[in-house]
Amino acid sequence: MELTILGTAAAEAWPAPFCRCDACQEARRRGGPNLRSRSGAILDNDFKIDFGPDTVMQLIRQGRDLQEVRTLVFTHHHCDHIVPTELEWANANFTNTPPTTPIAVYGNEAVMQMLHNEFSHHNASNLDFQPALQAFHPVTTATRDIILPLPADHAPGSFVLRITRAKDGKSLFYGHDSGLYPAETLDALTKAGTLDIAVFDCTFGGKKTANRGHMDIDGVVQMAETLRERGVITPQTHCIASHFSHNGNLMHEELVQAFLPHRIQVAFDGIVVRA
Ligand SMILES: [Zn+2]
Ligand SMILES: [Zn+2]
Ligand SMILES: [Zn+2]
Repeated sequence: MELTILGTAAAEAWPAPFCRCDACQEARRRGGPNLRSRSGAILDNDFKIDFGPDTVMQLIRQGRDLQEVRTLVFTHHHCDHIVPTELEWANANFTNTPPTTPIAVYGNEAVMQMLHNEFSHHNASNLDFQPALQAFHPVTTATRDIILPLPADHAPGSFVLRITRAKDGKSLFYGHDSGLYPAETLDALTKAGTLDIAVFDCTFGGKKTANRGHMDIDGVVQMAETLRERGVITPQTHCIASHFSHNGNLMHEELVQAFLPHRIQVAFDGIVVRA
């Protein structure tokens, strides 16, 4: 399994467009991994997670396309994770090589409603909207991958996702967006078994918070430790923190230092993780 994290910022990106705080100015000065676009990822070449406002530019930057995508799953309905109009580019008017099979699209009730509203007046022939995901109910995609949506501590209806790929049996936990995981989510993850890659929401970075809605460094470490104790995360699991905000203050280099003792990698835009 190859996970490419295309974007690693919270909703307003970092540096944020209307902001000259120290963290935004420092990101502009240092550049490199400190320049973060809105969160989203692609698994191998055929499984897209979220489609935020920076997706098209991320693909251009990475030299990638979505030609082979068979599955698109949304974590939740916030505007940094879904922009319904952007899915129009899958339609025949906008591609000379449309998908050979329609792309199966999954999301919670709010996501599916947004998509149905958008495509009530646009052609959606290359998109195959699936019934809304329900917490704790795994779905099997046409490519035999398994998506297990679990409740997140975030906007009502938001999910963290456990994805198992049919092609190699590898499993990914994609934890955007969420504060500390509800007990039932931890139990379901424990029951589902070990993970090859785990991605955590670290919106608050170096700022100490109560870890509700999103997490800071301590929250991520706490969740990673809990999953280690439960055997879900093993020494072979790649643990990655992502979805950072300028309000977290710590720059990429400092985040790397803070997470080093906890064996957690800090994501940057375009990072590729192979498991
Ligand atoms: Zn977000
Ligand atoms: Zn700022
Ligand atoms: Zn969100």
